[in-house]
Amino acid sequence: MAGNKIIVWFRRDLRIEDNPALSAAARDGRVLPVFIWCPKEEGQFYPGRVSRWWLKHSLLHLSQSLKSLGSQLVLIKADSTLAALLACIESVGATRVVFNHLYDPVSLVRDHHIKEQLVEVGISVQSYNADLLYEPWEVYNEKGLAFTMFDAYWNKCMHMQMEPVSHAPVWRLEQLPTSGTVENCSIEDLGLEDETERSSNALLGRGWSPGWGHADKALTEFIEHHLVTYAENRLKVGGNSTSLLSPYLHFGEVSVRKVFQSTRLKQILWAKEGNSIGEESASLFLRAIGLREYSRYLCFNFPFTHEKSLLSNLKYFPWIPDQTSFKAWRQGRTGYPLVDAGMRELWATGWIHNRIRVIVSSFAVKFLLLPWKWGMKYFWDTLLDADLESDILGWQYISGSLPDGHELERMDYPEVQGYNFDPEGEYVRQWLPELTRMPTEWIHHPWDAPASVLKASGVELGLNYPKPIIDVDAARARLTEAIFKMWELEAAARAFNSNYTDEVVGDNSAGDENSNIPKVVLKDMAPSFTISSNDQRVPTSQNSKGGLVCKKRPKEIAVSESRPVHEKLQDKPGSSRRGEEVCSTAESSAAKRQTISRDSFSVPQSCSSSSSLTSKEQEIRHFNSKQKFQEEVDIKHGTREDGI
Ligand SMILES: Cc1cc2nc3c(=O)[nH]c(=O)nc-3n(C[C@H](O)[C@H](O)[C@H](O)COP(=O)(O)OP(=O)(O)OC[C@H]3O[C@@H](n4cnc5c(N)ncnc54)[C@H](O)[C@@H]3O)c2cc1C
Repeated sequence: MAGNKIIVWFRRDLRIEDNPALSAAARDGRVLPVFIWCPKEEGQFYPGRVSRWWLKHSLLHLSQSLKSLGSQLVLIKADSTLAALLACIESVGATRVVFNHLYDPVSLVRDHHIKEQLVEVGISVQSYNADLLYEPWEVYNEKGLAFTMFDAYWNKCMHMQMEPVSHAPVWRLEQLPTSGTVENCSIEDLGLEDETERSSNALLGRGWSPGWGHADKALTEFIEHHLVTYAENRLKVGGNSTSLLSPYLHFGEVSVRKVFQSTRLKQILWAKEGNSIGEESASLFLRAIGLREYSRYLCFNFPFTHEKSLLSNLKYFPWIPDQTSFKAWRQGRTGYPLVDAGMRELWATGWIHNRIRVIVSSFAVKFLLLPWKWGMKYFWDTLLDADLESDILGWQYISGSLPDGHELERMDYPEVQGYNFDPEGEYVRQWLPELTRMPTEWIHHPWDAPASVLKASGVELGLNYPKPIIDVDAARARLTEAIFKMWELEAAARAFNSNYTDEVVGDNSAGDENSNIPKVVLKDMAPSFTISSNDQRVPTSQNSKGGLVCKKRPKEIAVSESRPVHEKLQDKPGSSRRGEEVCSTAESSAAKRQTISRDSFSVPQSCSSSSSLTSKEQEIRHFNSKQKFQEEVDIKHGTREDGI
């Protein structure tokens, strides 16, 4: 065994503890740990400035740790990962390569190809699960299909057995000496940070400490001191109300199994002590971890979701790809204070609270009708924790692309959200200095403030703070019109297809609740991985050429959707889901499950002629009367938020 020469290929598993690939290599022979930076292969998902800053410092940290174990991390900048790996293999005479799985659409294709090529030249390849509690090919519904609703997925997961943290800690590594064929470059040579980026990046170091050792400390601090109040605090924007573990989890600096197990231990303890708040907190935190699992699950089972919505209806949505409004959104100059504060915080710090992510992303999609993929890409470019799978899940969730996400017609009004989540306006004042003197009463809707208040606050709308980029009622009308247009286009496409093609859509089970989701994975067709992590195969639903295939043709049109548009309009008077505005997915998804295929096409509330109030007035009245009741519900359930 000691004679084995093994390459450990590090990617987003930058830790020593509970690292199955590293443990296996350390156990079985001498190792060469390598990190290969190949910008060309990242394509459109080349990481943004702050994400690269994090990676650089995390690599430095890992490199130090490996040194103290007797080894050295080889850093390689390459045009082709495969070529770089082959050079490493040749340089040390290795016979085996080990690495941990990734599930984003870019890595799935690349890893599959690399695995095939290495095996072809006689190299043994093993890949492991270091990123998830459950591999995406282990969790299916009773029909053998992939889940498309989070609650059902997570419920199933919580009843499955999990692989324990069983990898012996690595105490010592025997390094393989390299010959000249490998160019081990310095961290600076990798080019993760441009000269021009240094001064901006320097600020990041004040708030964050990348590296697996720091991740471990952050986890312990959170579990010991803050987890217990997570249920109460997690919706507070501004301040450290959540764990702030997302960048560490993205780069694999902390083991998700360790996060889960530490939380479960606390949960069990608090249950014994009768600490129901603590128990609830632990359960909500585990649910958050479950969302991360689900993001990988969706990407693996529906590998088109970085480009297409999971629900096929959005295919016909008439987005307005307007660069000017996109710029105003990016720069935090929409005239809606909460949105602008969020966007400016994102730009300044590379991180925003989940609630703010939901608000700014919904605004981009529902108020500005910007394509959700634009927003997704912008988040990818600017977030410190930029994570393709979670980013996809977030944007699909808010844009009406998921069966259990926000409905397309649902519009949340930023001023209402403002008073919900920033009641004193402190967050807005922190990020919009021009509104610092605005009284709390007007801070979330300065356009309604009397001229005397504006004057006394030093606010000149249109001069030192923008007027709203679009009026609330105009935005609502425009969204409604866009939804009508989408139906029309969809109906036309359907008519065209039935006239001119022989298209048969009978391969999805009739009456299936989410029939406009392509059923891409059947259990029997999925790769037959076991819980054991020493498999030889790449998790994939790809064809042999590395292309991604849909195993079944999507059934585009649900039965109820084939009725004329005007009939659908009459379906659900006043059926707005605004009543669920602050409900969690958990609370609302049971009801949604019953009606989901029709809901995607249901009538926005403002279409209803039954009321003479503007939608904004309705919303504010609704908000006022509901607030007290909602507060009680929130306190009871701790769920003053959407599922995501
Ligand atoms: C439009 C949009 C885009 C998003 N983009 C990203 C992204 O690029 N990277 C990212 O890590 N998260 C993303 N999220 C999810 C979420 O906002 C962050 O994970 C969370 O705010 C991170 O803060 P925390 O670590 O303190 O979270 P906590 O509340 O402490 O949760 C613990 C961990 O659970 C996971 N988690 C929590 N909520 C979610 C969620 N909704 N989806 C997936 N995982 C979740 C994260 O790994 C997080 O670190 C996005 C959400 C939305 C709505």
